[in-house]
Amino acid sequence: MVARRGVVVLGATGSVGSSTCNVLRRHADRFRVVGFSAAHRVEALDLLAMEFEPDFVVLAGTPEHRHAASWMGEWRYGSDALVEAAADERADIVVNALVGAAGLEATLAVLQAGKRLALANKESLVAGGALVVDAWRSGTGEILPVDSEHSAIHQCLAGRPSLEVRRLILTASGGPFRTMPASQFASIRSVDALAHPTWNMGSKISVDSATMANKALEVIEAHLLFDIALDSIEVVVHPTSIVHSFVEFQDGSTMAQLGFPTMEVPILYALASPERLPDEFEPFDPVRAGALEFEPLRRDAFPMFDLGLAAAHAGGTAPAAFSAANEVAVAAFLADDLDFPGIPRVVGAVLDAWDGGQVDSVEAVMVADAEARRRANEVLGNCSGHVGC
Ligand code: MG
Repeated sequence: MVARRGVVVLGATGSVGSSTCNVLRRHADRFRVVGFSAAHRVEALDLLAMEFEPDFVVLAGTPEHRHAASWMGEWRYGSDALVEAAADERADIVVNALVGAAGLEATLAVLQAGKRLALANKESLVAGGALVVDAWRSGTGEILPVDSEHSAIHQCLAGRPSLEVRRLILTASGGPFRTMPASQFASIRSVDALAHPTWNMGSKISVDSATMANKALEVIEAHLLFDIALDSIEVVVHPTSIVHSFVEFQDGSTMAQLGFPTMEVPILYALASPERLPDEFEPFDPVRAGALEFEPLRRDAFPMFDLGLAAAHAGGTAPAAFSAANEVAVAAFLADDLDFPGIPRVVGAVLDAWDGGQVDSVEAVMVADAEARRRANEVLGNCSGHVGC
């Protein structure tokens, strides 16, 4: 009998968290839940705790937020408890499915504790940059991506060194506005942006997929994870999301990983790798998948992509500023306080005035993050009520 590996799921009640729980439910013989965390959804967290009987749960708030929860186990509260959960000695694997740069300390804590980080929280890698890569490369921790494109690349690489890679090609579904003329973007409402054509995801990443900010974050993520130059990473639009990405090797051979879109495949891979555990899944049917179509990304229509890449090339704290300003703009868009074209306007204004700084400590990232948020809110305040500001 194989010993069960201990798993902590941060962000257990979100979209990736729920998919992770589906995988854990089917593989209870191989994985044991050590802890769950949730920001606000106390009822959902309570239900998960009753079902999985973890060693503890963490709630972002304070004890009064627990309300009438019925699970009698150990409840912990606040951001310090979250970081402690990430480093808990009973855990072998930590799934970081938190949203935004708030997940950075957890990401670092997992790597510093020498554990496997199953990383869905790409913003923590983008914002932390060299800091996260150093914590990873200098220790015994490892990162397994929980992002379909990066899982695909990880699988295609199969441990080959980056020297053997000529190019990575990330696929993008193109989002819900792939074919819409940019002149109509001002009419987009948050509900339209949340209706992703191929992936069922949380609200922040759904908007990021609609603006292509997500694809910029993913290029940076791939650059950091696989040590491939930014200029050797390309993006192609593939509306049906069957091909999850390509790796072109120096010898002219190109590998791709395919499947119908579900996050449970990359999650299981991140938990079980290098093993491939038998699982229930929809059999891949090439006939049903039909013709695999690809088209170029409309970079002019979706300026968030180039803004993200420019931040990546600028380096230092610029990617953290891009990510933080984007979080503020997306929140304003979701609250119907900003129109869709306003997202790149706000982020562009913050980046235009950004004067850099090095990513040499968590504090440096936090300061840059707070400053970018402050500036984004300033731009938002100046813009309120002024259409096209
Ligand atoms: Mg992705």
